[in-house]
Amino acid sequence: MAIGMKKIPYPVRLNLSRTPTPLEPLSRLSEKFGVDLYVKRDDLTGADLTGNKIRKLEFLLADALAGGCDTVITCGAAQSNHARATAIAAVRLGLGVRLLLRTRDPDNPPPLEGNILLDRLVGAEIVWLTFEEYGRRAEMLAAEAESLRNSGKTPYLIPEGGSNAMGAWGYVRAVEELAFDLATLPGAQEQPTTIIHATGSGGTTAGLILGVKLVGLNARVVGINVCNDRDYFLRVVGDICQTAIDTYKLELPFSPERDIEIVDGYVGRGYGKAGSEELSLIREVARSEGILLDPVYTGKAFYGMSQELQRNPEVFGGRIVFVHTGGLFGLFPMADQIAPLL
Ligand SMILES: *Cc1c(COP(=O)(O)O)cnc(C)c1O
Repeated sequence: MAIGMKKIPYPVRLNLSRTPTPLEPLSRLSEKFGVDLYVKRDDLTGADLTGNKIRKLEFLLADALAGGCDTVITCGAAQSNHARATAIAAVRLGLGVRLLLRTRDPDNPPPLEGNILLDRLVGAEIVWLTFEEYGRRAEMLAAEAESLRNSGKTPYLIPEGGSNAMGAWGYVRAVEELAFDLATLPGAQEQPTTIIHATGSGGTTAGLILGVKLVGLNARVVGINVCNDRDYFLRVVGDICQTAIDTYKLELPFSPERDIEIVDGYVGRGYGKAGSEELSLIREVARSEGILLDPVYTGKAFYGMSQELQRNPEVFGGRIVFVHTGGLFGLFPMADQIAPLL
C-alpha cells in the first residue's frame, strides 16, 4: 500500500492541536443525499483553538520560535477565527500578539463578542483597520512590524488565514490522518474519496492538494469559496502550492487549472454574511446530526455541497469527506439572525 511509503519532508512543528481528529459518518444526511458522507472533525482540534488554523499555526509558530521572535502579528476580519487561534496559541507560548482587524469604522469597533471577546480576554493588542487599509494589508503588516522593531521587539508576520507555504503543511498532515482513517473503511483500497471544504484564504485548499499528492491518496479535493471567486483562488492557491513545491523541493507535478477545483456560486450575500438558506441548512445539520456548522465558512460550504448534490447526486462520487474547519464562535454574534428560525 502506498500510504506512508514515502517520507514527507515536514518542517519543524509544535504540538498545539488535539490531533488526529476523528472521521465520523453522517448517517442521516448520507441517506438523504444517497452518498457515504463523512465529516473530518477539525472543529475538535481544541476548544479554544477550534478549527483549521491551529494546524497551520503549529508550523508557523515553530518557525517563529526558531527565528527568535517574541511578538506575532497577523490580520483578518473582525471575527477572524485565525486571529483568535493565533492570539491564544501565541499567549500559550509566551509571545506577544498584535492583530490587525478590519471594520467599517475603526472609531466605533464592533462589540466584544464571539472571537473578539476571546482575542481581548487573552490580551491581544487589536489595531482596527478600515476596509481600504485592509486592502493594503501587506503594507500595513510591514509597517506594524517596523514599529515593533523600533521598540526593540522581534516580530513574526503571519499572513491572513496563516495561508502561505509554511502554513499549508498543516493540511498535508491532515491528509495523512485521513488516509489512515479511510484505510479502515470498507472498499478502502480502490474507492475514490472527494474531500470538500470551505475556501477562505486558500491555505487549507493548498495543503489538502499538496497532501493528497504527497500521501498518494486516491482523492479529489474540492474547495467551495466563501469570498472572492474561482479565478482569484486559482491564483492564490496556485501560488501557495507552487511556492511550497519550490521552497521545500517537493518535486510534484502541479498545474493550477488541472489540480485546483473551486466550486464557485455560494458566497451568497457576501463574506461574513449569511442568508436564510445557509442558516436553515445550519439548523438542519444541527438537528439531524448534532453537528454545529458556522455561518461564515462551514455553513456556506455545506450548503454549496448539498445544493450540488441535490442537482446531481453523482457529482462528487460515492464517498465524500466534508472537512469541518471550525468557526463555532462565529455563530454567537449571529444569534439575532438565527432566532426567527428557531
Ligand atoms: C479560515 C477558515 C476557513 C478557510 O480556510 P482557509 O485556509 O483560510 O481557506 C474555513 N473554515 C473556518 C471555520 C475558518 O476559520
